[in-house]
Amino acid sequence: MADFIEQRLEEIRSRNLYRELKLVDGEQDSTVVLDGREVLNLSSNNYLGLANHPALKEAARQALDRYGCGSGASRLISGNMTAHEELEQRLARFKGTEAALVFNSGYQANVGIIATLVERDDVVLSDQLNHASIIDGCRLSRAAVSVYRHCDMDHLESLLRAAPAKARKLIVTESVFSMDGDIAPLRELVELAERHGAMVMVDEAHGTGVRGPNGAGVVAEMALGDRVLVQMGTLGKALGAFGAYVAGSARLRELLINRARSFIFTTSLPPVILAMAGAAVDLAEKEPERQCTLRRNTERLRSGLERLGYTVGGSTQIIPVMVGEEQPCMELAARLLDSGFYVQGIRPPTVPPGTSRLRVTTMATHTNEQLDRALDAFARNSPHERKRA
Ligand SMILES: *Cc1c(COP(=O)(O)O)cnc(C)c1O
Repeated sequence: MADFIEQRLEEIRSRNLYRELKLVDGEQDSTVVLDGREVLNLSSNNYLGLANHPALKEAARQALDRYGCGSGASRLISGNMTAHEELEQRLARFKGTEAALVFNSGYQANVGIIATLVERDDVVLSDQLNHASIIDGCRLSRAAVSVYRHCDMDHLESLLRAAPAKARKLIVTESVFSMDGDIAPLRELVELAERHGAMVMVDEAHGTGVRGPNGAGVVAEMALGDRVLVQMGTLGKALGAFGAYVAGSARLRELLINRARSFIFTTSLPPVILAMAGAAVDLAEKEPERQCTLRRNTERLRSGLERLGYTVGGSTQIIPVMVGEEQPCMELAARLLDSGFYVQGIRPPTVPPGTSRLRVTTMATHTNEQLDRALDAFARNSPHERKRA
């Protein structure tokens, strides 16, 4: 059996797909101490810089004093505490929905929601670039999975037409795509769903906190809240805490409490974490300027990279710098890291083969000076520059 492990590792290495953990010491900030050296962090989903915000720390301290540490049980046993219900009411107000339900992580939310809404003999229509947690949710549901080409609404429509008339249908998409930084055409998607009697689920992992009124997400930005059955989002990215939520009708919440296995069969989140998330939602609403700064920073970095001749995709705080093959992608990431800039290279199976890229992300707490230094490093390492040298 040990042979199998060694063989698998060798195979992963030989395909340039070997992954290694890097170690961050201290707080998550716009700069981090990575493997013992301070670098500019261009690889975080802590987009608003809330992960070490004093208001979140203070909320956690107060919750610690009031509730202690662990919850001791799942929500349906003795682990449903005031902190859980308070945060859910707060999230429903934030999202403008009737109700919300907290899950222990985005991964668990997606797996649980999809398998609750569709089952054998149903059809789930899933964007080609959806996150692994959505893919796993589709698999667990045992429904037939129809994958449509990325954001291709004509393809989605033809798959909707091809689905058996009697099957329950669920369309699932991210709002801001996690590795491509582009935005799903949600208006068209919702119209298609209505025409074909399909349910819609939108994953706002990268929209929550950064898009829409007060950071309520892309669905709110496009005023589609009444037409999207399931809005899912995470509390661990822009909101700087941990966990995830589902926002929608009270009936949806009720069904998930009764059926979502990843909600039912797991110990509930500790109140400390819920308190951080609540404080982050307060900040997103009270201080919307963070969203504006994030947008300005994104624009500065994105346009700078384009000027340098890099092939840049998307339109949000996630800026994919396309490279193609795995090895040159990881080499470019390594050179940038040597210069003090942490940019994650993304390879298959996270993205399709041949589309390896640097996933550059901006934060509201990056300064202009930091971003300009990053652009200098990109300029020194650009493929064009190196050919000339
Ligand atoms: C990160 C992410 C998730 C998972 O959320 P976690 O809370 O980190 O488990 C789900 N969907 C998308 C699109 C993500 O990027």
